[in-house]
Amino acid sequence: MATRFSLFVQSPFEDTRSRPELVTVTSPAGSIGPGPSDERMYVVEPLGKTRAYGLNRGPLGTPYLYLPAWAGPAAAPALPDAQGHFDHYRPGEPGFMAAHLFGCVRFTLDVWERYLGQPLEWHFRDGYDRLEISLLPQWDNAQYGYGFLEVGSQEDPLGRPLPFALDFDIIAHEVGHAVIYGVLGVPAPGAEYPEYLGFQESFADCVSLVAAMHFPSVVDTVLAETRGNLYLANRLTRFSESAPHRQLRSANNTHTMAEFVHGWKNEHELSQPLTGAVFDVLADIFHESLVERRLISPEVEQLADIAEVDARAMAPLQDAFDAAFARDADGFREALLDARDIAGGLLSKTLWHLDADYLDYGAVARVMHAVDAAETGGRYGAIIARNFARRQIGELHAGPRIQSRKQGSRMSRNLIPFDGARLPRMSYRERMLLARAG
Ligand SMILES: [Zn+2]
Repeated sequence: MATRFSLFVQSPFEDTRSRPELVTVTSPAGSIGPGPSDERMYVVEPLGKTRAYGLNRGPLGTPYLYLPAWAGPAAAPALPDAQGHFDHYRPGEPGFMAAHLFGCVRFTLDVWERYLGQPLEWHFRDGYDRLEISLLPQWDNAQYGYGFLEVGSQEDPLGRPLPFALDFDIIAHEVGHAVIYGVLGVPAPGAEYPEYLGFQESFADCVSLVAAMHFPSVVDTVLAETRGNLYLANRLTRFSESAPHRQLRSANNTHTMAEFVHGWKNEHELSQPLTGAVFDVLADIFHESLVERRLISPEVEQLADIAEVDARAMAPLQDAFDAAFARDADGFREALLDARDIAGGLLSKTLWHLDADYLDYGAVARVMHAVDAAETGGRYGAIIARNFARRQIGELHAGPRIQSRKQGSRMSRNLIPFDGARLPRMSYRERMLLARAG
């Protein structure tokens, strides 16, 4: 029997009426121990941890790589009930956040391991057996790196904490980074193109979007609110409302590569044309699926294509969707789940065939096209080609990064212990100060 968790499917910060839902993950009941923990990962709630993992600076300014495992004191672990489940914790109780965090990671892995066709192998497997999933409440960010997935929190305008451990989308996004690293590895020094950084953020958002579409309540809400017009589906298209960097990204966007050829500042912004293209591919596959099921006419599908570039087509399109959805809501649900799995399969197979070195968006488009040709005989080839071309992907490339941070362009989470060996050695005095700082 699978293990039960109680998860906020809709972030409690975006919708205060939201309540946790009963969700099962594939781990057999009884296989998840205190923490929660299993043979591949564990949650820890450190007490007295002051710094996030990754590249840090010592008390005298020397850079160093700070990595798990946390060896200091920790809060009492979340415990399974007598049957091995974790859904007995209520929001606000000690242990709820740890259980929620683990449940979100495990749920997202369930979804993507099915698409990948095998369990994810951690990219840090040479260094650690297990992923440390840790809570760092005073830190305003979330990250995945060598052996760690760490989440902090933000404050709302009234100063109340918004822990990222309760936000499925943010956690699933970090698992997305784990999926990319696990399959692609880390780019070799000097082989990292700017678009690789955008690809990381884009694919991580896609991982989160597709994972959220595995909650029946999300699919039902999206369909009830949009009657199948996915471009109105805020739950699916908006990312990180309360996320690190306060970046507002949308999968439903019109950004193209032309905006980035002269340079870019932030990989989350750079990710938008690619995410937009993938979302449009998903929407077009859904429309095809609706036509095949005779739920909408080919004319309505054409109207949907026009609406992507001409807002005047939106109102008649919505009328057509409203009428069609009212006739067969179950058919719409089946078509959407089909489109989700086709897109998830395309994305995961594309990932298997990409190389982290010299990766750019053009490679993503080419590989996805080739994957579709091999898997379906090119059934979605025209959809893929059209949506990537519309973003000028493969035609125009991101220019140089416009530096805004002192740290340099190489992401901290890209660093592996080998890189740590190349950092300058810390003096004895600085190491002593650091040890005392906790
Ligand atoms: Zn990210």
